[in-house]
Amino acid sequence: MSLSEFGLIERYFRHCGVAREDVRVGVGDDAAVLECPPGQHLVAAMDTLVDGVHFPHGAPPDSIGYRALAVNLSDLAAMGARAAWALLALTLPEADEGWLSQFAAGFAKLARLHNLALVGGDTTRGPLCVTVQVLGHVSGSAMLRSGGRPGDALFVSGTPGDAAAGLALEQGRWPESGGTQYLRERFLFPTPRMELGERLREYASACIDVSDGLLGDAGKLAAASGCGAEIVYADLPLSEPLVRVAGAERAHELALTGGDDYELCFSVGPGQLAQLLAQMPPERWGYRRIGSLRQAPGIDLVRDGAAVRLPPSGYDHFAGTGR
Ligand code: ADP
Ligand code: MG
Repeated sequence: MSLSEFGLIERYFRHCGVAREDVRVGVGDDAAVLECPPGQHLVAAMDTLVDGVHFPHGAPPDSIGYRALAVNLSDLAAMGARAAWALLALTLPEADEGWLSQFAAGFAKLARLHNLALVGGDTTRGPLCVTVQVLGHVSGSAMLRSGGRPGDALFVSGTPGDAAAGLALEQGRWPESGGTQYLRERFLFPTPRMELGERLREYASACIDVSDGLLGDAGKLAAASGCGAEIVYADLPLSEPLVRVAGAERAHELALTGGDDYELCFSVGPGQLAQLLAQMPPERWGYRRIGSLRQAPGIDLVRDGAAVRLPPSGYDHFAGTGR
């Protein structure tokens, strides 16, 4: 590695995020040395963002840094884990300091919010590509995709579809109007639902984060649980800006099939349902019931009282954001 690249690591990544006491050795040696809390399980996730594939070429650098961490944190949220550390593998076409400082600021902003330390990584030259690994822990059992049972209520957090609309706007595929800034930000700066995930461990039978579209990800949860699911069209939580910008019909389609939302989709058994609703009120925690798991495999969309079967291959029918 050249001196200037060494300097870049020192400058932008040695003190990125928070200083944690459980980091015995962080950036600067050959590897990080981390102290795992006794009796807890280590939870690890990794995701890569490729320029022009996972974000538009020329996207704001602070958004790229933020999203690279957010998409990983979201995976930990889905497991009910608390994040602690991250590693960053960064491939850059050039060492552009303006770009790097914004990228690092975006990453650091979210890292600080979740008390996370950047403890190592790798820096290489090549087409822009960002890989982040997050490590965290969970006491007791993590939430899995596979714990759902027929009859469990199915929920989603936030307002899915917003990020797909935001991406369409970022790419200039949709005209600008009122409310579009909100939608753009849902794509550029998604909110990993860390606190919700951690709290849901007490109530949820299964959980998945919604990165590839609600239908597809709810389908994965249902299939992993050996179930199918029914989703009620009229119960999909839609943001006001999404409906205004996309129209009601398109807004529903995007909520079902748009990607990049990083919300949580989770199931709750009948024994936990009343407690969940009482102790974590949906309005306060930002989630809504959208249907139920059921025995028969596959996903049905219930619209105006009629159920439409959506086999996995049929999801594409609803896709239309051009990704
Ligand atoms: P080595 O050649 O031994 O792998 P490097 O020179 O690649 O070491 O990295 C030196 C130190 O800087 C290591 O602690 C490594 O984890 C850290 N590091 C390298 N790139 C990054 C990065 N993009 N973000 C955070 N830490 C990094
Ligand atoms: Mg290295």
